[in-house]
Amino acid sequence: MGLADRFGRVATDLRVSLTDRCNLRCTYCMPEEGLDWLAKPELLTDDEIVRLVSVAVRLLGVHEIRFTGGEPLLRRGLVGIVGRTTELEPRPQVSLTTNGIGLARQAQALKDAGLDRVNVSLDTIRPDTFQQLTRRDRLQDVLAGLEAAQAVGLTPVKVNAVLMRGVNDDQAPELLEFCLEHDYELRFIEQMPLDAQHGWNRATMVTADEILDQLAEPFGLEPTDVATRGSAPAESFTVRGGPRTVGIIASVTRPFCGDCDRVRLTADGQVRDCLFARTESDLRTALRAGAGDEELADRWRRAMRGKLPGHGINDPSFLQPTRPMSAIGG
Ligand code: SAM
Ligand code: SF4
Repeated sequence: MGLADRFGRVATDLRVSLTDRCNLRCTYCMPEEGLDWLAKPELLTDDEIVRLVSVAVRLLGVHEIRFTGGEPLLRRGLVGIVGRTTELEPRPQVSLTTNGIGLARQAQALKDAGLDRVNVSLDTIRPDTFQQLTRRDRLQDVLAGLEAAQAVGLTPVKVNAVLMRGVNDDQAPELLEFCLEHDYELRFIEQMPLDAQHGWNRATMVTADEILDQLAEPFGLEPTDVATRGSAPAESFTVRGGPRTVGIIASVTRPFCGDCDRVRLTADGQVRDCLFARTESDLRTALRAGAGDEELADRWRRAMRGKLPGHGINDPSFLQPTRPMSAIGG
């Protein structure tokens, strides 16, 4: 039996956070300083990660693995972890969500290890805005990472962008033009209340409708066939008659929780049934106490029974999870 919840959803897509550390400090994700890192002994080792991923793939019907963080390229054992994951039977799809820094150096090794695709986060193509948003001057590294991913065939290369009011909210058209030019698939993500410093404000959030207003006419956007969306969170639009598309992930204004097929594993071995979950299920303790694969699988199945029907961001009683995005794995 797979990872079913009480509402008929079955999780088949596992997001694994490999570290909570990062070399950027995106304002919608992390504070400038003062965020405590997970303690080293709490972090799963490479072997422990592969063991849990293997339980998910072999016993629980998971067929998609995405490594994320924090910044997953900072994890020393990344290439090995990817390689061992792609050797699992049945072979899962394996992808990486990264800020792209250092990807130029590692892209070929990742491709050789069997990595299928990458999502690179890029919110602006202007160096000054990049510095303002990420608090670091690393735009050129990200652009080089994108090019390398494309060159080695980690395709389609997807780009994730978050728009922030007064910072880059007027830059959607140039970002889309840039992605069309380079054959990257762009998706905008609405800013969610997951930042460590709890600075999210609904009143200033840039909504999917606003982004569409900016793009619809100049790019001749038309909704793609809704039937092909499935559990994919992005609403997809063709650009100038197609075949190129742009996506918008409207987690806040148009939630898609009813179609959710995700589950998350944190770098310290906690199962989270939702980005916004306020509870977690510990697999690390059982793993380190010598639990067998079947027991771990059972614990994981039980963990899914608490999954709520929706994230509740729009309820007055919503409380942001204590764990920030950088430690959950976006
Ligand atoms: N460091 C990697 C990166 O930036 O791609 C992987 C981890 S990051 C947490 C994963 C994704 O979450 C990125 O695309 C990032 O833009 C997005 N993200 C982070 N904080 C967010 C927030 N508050 N709302 C919406 N998306 C967010
Ligand atoms: Fe780092 Fe990614 Fe968070 Fe930016 S969004 S601070 S790159 S973890």
